[in-house]
Amino acid sequence: MSTVSLRSINRRYPGGTHAVQDVSLEVADGEFMVLVGPSGCGKSTTLRMVAGLEPIDSGELYIGEREVSKLVPAERDIAMVFQNYALYPHMTAAENMGFGLRVRGTPKAEIKKRVTEAAELLELGDLVDRKPGKMSGGQRQRVAIGRAIVRQPAAFLFDEPLSNLDAKLRAEMRAELSKLHRRLGATMLYVTHDQVEAMTLGDRICLLRGGVIQQVGTPMELYERPANAFVARFIGTPPMNVWTGEVLAGGRRFRSTGGVELALPQNVSPGPAEVGLRPEHLSLTTVTDGPHLRVHVELVERMGATSLLHARTPGGEIILASMPGSMQVTEAETVTLAYNPDHVRTFPVEVSS
Ligand code: ADP
Repeated sequence: MSTVSLRSINRRYPGGTHAVQDVSLEVADGEFMVLVGPSGCGKSTTLRMVAGLEPIDSGELYIGEREVSKLVPAERDIAMVFQNYALYPHMTAAENMGFGLRVRGTPKAEIKKRVTEAAELLELGDLVDRKPGKMSGGQRQRVAIGRAIVRQPAAFLFDEPLSNLDAKLRAEMRAELSKLHRRLGATMLYVTHDQVEAMTLGDRICLLRGGVIQQVGTPMELYERPANAFVARFIGTPPMNVWTGEVLAGGRRFRSTGGVELALPQNVSPGPAEVGLRPEHLSLTTVTDGPHLRVHVELVERMGATSLLHARTPGGEIILASMPGSMQVTEAETVTLAYNPDHVRTFPVEVSS
């Protein structure tokens, strides 16, 4: 296994889109790194540049100690798992898995050994003799992963591998991928638009927006200390409440444009700011001597373990609050929500470009 190092990588498509802008990212040996972000943020382009399927306009790419920026895919010692599986329909699972080795001239016995090992690791059982047409989506995806494993590459690349599966299977495959990563100790670079997948799979997450890295860190770092309001909104379900407004003179209070006032955990320079508070950091209370907000409940979404309150502040701003499912709240009630100022995050106001 190997490190993967992206150094000031750029890609500008002939049409003019600067899809990947100065991206620098160090994936450690054995690390599971997830590239995440909304559609069009440059995830696939970045991954395809690492794979060698897309040219790198400027910057350098290293796999281990070797610069591979100009090498063709076959010379990079990486294996990619695609969203659409890309299996050969006329070959069995075992033949599909061994095909890449066969064209490289690997001895038959060695191919058989590696395919058997991978099939065991993925618990493929008698699927190995089946053709893709006779397999479910999840089974095909496992075979596609098996085909990558037998290559014993320096790094694995995954391009939204679970997005064609239904929700239940996706959750199962997510757990399987995590276990697989632990067993193989492999370096993995994984693309998804799904923040839940990013949070649950990644040792670290790299969040992209408009081709630019917003933050790189562990899932909990991004959740607890988002670098900006975009990260704050993107990571976490339900999303963080974010208000635009200003830090008042004195630096300890914030007032949103709609009139929400929040206590800040530490002194912040007065002036325009965005402030965030997660739905799970609000709780129903009857006491009004601590930091609190008065809100009008518009909708209670019951999800079993938790209920999500959709409420509105007197100034008309929407606020989400997450409550234990057992909590009795009815729609159209006015309630008091308590919060701890330590959970309030302040972000610099974004300058729109
Ligand atoms: P993501 O994988 O995050 O959805 P992509 O890497 O596919 O994003 O795309 C990043 C940007 O580059 C988008 O604006 C997209 O429209 C543009 N783009 C992607 N592929 C091409 C292409 N072949 N030609 C021109 N523009 C492209």
